[in-house]
Amino acid sequence: MKRLCMLLVAVMCLGIAGVSSVVAAPKYVIYVIGDGMSPNHVMGAEMYLAELEGRIGRVPLRMTQFPYTGFLTTYSVSNAITCSSAAGTALATGVKTRNGYEGVDTLKQPLTSIATLLHNQDWAVGILTSASIDHATPASFYTHTTDRNDYYHIGQDLVRSDFDFFGGAAFQHPGVPENEPNGIDLYAMTERAGYVVARTYEEGEAALEADKLMVVQDGVSLPYEINTSKEDLHLPELTSLALRFLESKDRPFFLMVEGGLIDWANHGNDGATSLRETVDMDRAVEVIYQFYLQHADETLVVITADHDCGGFALANGGYKLNLQALQYQTMSSDYLTDSIRALHTQRGEDLTWEEVRDLIARATGLYTHTNVSDDEDKDLHKSFDRMMRREDSDVKTMYKSYNRLGSAAIALLNAKAHLGWTSHSHSAAPVPVFAIGVGAEDFVGWYDNTEIVPRMMKIINE
Ligand SMILES: [Zn+2]
Repeated sequence: MKRLCMLLVAVMCLGIAGVSSVVAAPKYVIYVIGDGMSPNHVMGAEMYLAELEGRIGRVPLRMTQFPYTGFLTTYSVSNAITCSSAAGTALATGVKTRNGYEGVDTLKQPLTSIATLLHNQDWAVGILTSASIDHATPASFYTHTTDRNDYYHIGQDLVRSDFDFFGGAAFQHPGVPENEPNGIDLYAMTERAGYVVARTYEEGEAALEADKLMVVQDGVSLPYEINTSKEDLHLPELTSLALRFLESKDRPFFLMVEGGLIDWANHGNDGATSLRETVDMDRAVEVIYQFYLQHADETLVVITADHDCGGFALANGGYKLNLQALQYQTMSSDYLTDSIRALHTQRGEDLTWEEVRDLIARATGLYTHTNVSDDEDKDLHKSFDRMMRREDSDVKTMYKSYNRLGSAAIALLNAKAHLGWTSHSHSAAPVPVFAIGVGAEDFVGWYDNTEIVPRMMKIINE
């Protein structure tokens, strides 16, 4: 009996050894980047969801349930506070560079991203974002430039990358620049390079057997989750499409998914939109997690962020939050700005405070669901009067010039939710890392954003 037990133990040990020898390098590597997502955004999203259930606490996002967590430092070579292109370069290539540089080192020499490296080893590669496919973070995986706004040439680099899948908002400057008469329209170049360009989710699904696929929607970005409609492309569904497309290639694949608009909402200090973008990216993470469950022995998923944005705080004095007030916001700060301007244009000098106040109430829940004091109402009314006298100036941030009245209404709602912001720019706060799958244990600790790529490559080459 004793011998039998020993034999059983030996067999079990052999079995375990056998399993671990099967678990080799990952065949599927999925890299998720929340642009502008600090730990406070993740925590805020979880506490917001709990408040919707009428309680203090958290509803765990999928990403925080991953077994391995860490933090990244994010400063660039030139700045204590990084921009998205320098951070994107560090996350894509493992090399720090100057703010404004994208895919090049401090001497402006081209760097090779992990996507290019793996593509050269016959991996299928997908790049997906809720911003535009040529925006700083996605572009860091295929371009080499010192001007992140040089969208035409970045677009050329995109096509030349020969990556298998692109998804998100479309090329920002597809047309040939005036000073380049021999240039080629980016869509002509894309189709000549063998890509099928789909404009809707359905068109993308119908093209799953294409050699190379691009699924895009016109606009500076996909709409914010708070503004989106059924017809729009959505990050979670595009993630599912990308995974199906890449898996069908019967090769190892690398997929980068960016939640690009968390950052944009933070630049506008728009709490509800920012937290809802974080939840939306987590829906994409859920899709990825379901894929992982089917391929647990051959998949690595790493989620992180490029930097914080806004110096976002879950406090503005006192010991309480009121995040549930954010649920009544029905449009982003950007959209509210555009709506106020459109109403002003339409009604001209006849526009009344009552009409604008009704719009603000519909957009934010102020007045209808959240109490506005007489003094706060007077301040908004004064802002309206200044707008009518054309004495107000816009609030200019990275991605938008906000109407001051709309911005003040969103700021008032944030204050009532007890959210705080230190700026309309990025901060040096560390960002979170969440990992699951083959080699995920290597992503724990407090380390630099240049460390993700070498750690991934080490696991892949093992
Ligand atoms: Zn930013």
